[in-house]
Amino acid sequence: MLKDNFEAVEAKIQAACKRAGRKRDEVTLIAVSKTKPIPMLREAYDLGNRIFGENKVQEITDKVDALPDDISWHMIGHLQRNKVKYIIDKVELIHSVDSFRLASEIEKEAAKKGVTADILIEVNVAKEESKFGVMPEDTIELISNISNLPHIRIKGLMTIAPFVDNPEDNRIYFRRLRNLAVDIGENKSDNVTMSVLSMGMTNDYEIAIEEGATMIRVGTGLFGARSYR
Ligand SMILES: *Cc1c(COP(=O)(O)O)cnc(C)c1O
Repeated sequence: MLKDNFEAVEAKIQAACKRAGRKRDEVTLIAVSKTKPIPMLREAYDLGNRIFGENKVQEITDKVDALPDDISWHMIGHLQRNKVKYIIDKVELIHSVDSFRLASEIEKEAAKKGVTADILIEVNVAKEESKFGVMPEDTIELISNISNLPHIRIKGLMTIAPFVDNPEDNRIYFRRLRNLAVDIGENKSDNVTMSVLSMGMTNDYEIAIEEGATMIRVGTGLFGARSYR
């Protein structure tokens, strides 16, 4: 069953890349395995998947310990400052930085461990009250402040688009995130590149690819429905 899902998603990614005139290798699939049991991740691993997305610190550390170490783990969920220390040297990329306070904590823990942390800035591009993320108009200032922190590299932007019935409705938000990245890229500093655009989930990743996503985060479409979160 997982095999069929991975093949179906892969076919859709390829079709979307083709429509957009993009190369398949411009888009990285992050298999969002939150709430799913370790044997299921192992099955995805055996199918060749090496990139997993999780949103809870405890779950990441449990899964890191239980699975092979050639996996790259992506923290895609809201991160509490007091938990940064548990994952700072375990994850490839933190997608969900939306405040200077959180970035400062990441800086502190990265310095302690002697690593440089790669992060994305989470932008609340649709300005939804229920969502985390920095407002689009505050993004440039936040990035310029974080760019002074020596143990952090800002690699791009991330957004969680609204939950909609028709994924076409989210095209405008994906386009806005890309335009924001272009604006920021034009006056970038040393620790900042805008090479990553993390946008698109099961419901809307094909649209996100058409609008320039370089990372898509797909859970349900690969692992099936979750009973919570
Ligand atoms: C759960 C989650 C996803 C995956 O959602 P699906 O709709 O199951 O594909 C992607 N991004 C974030 C930030 C998530 O929390």
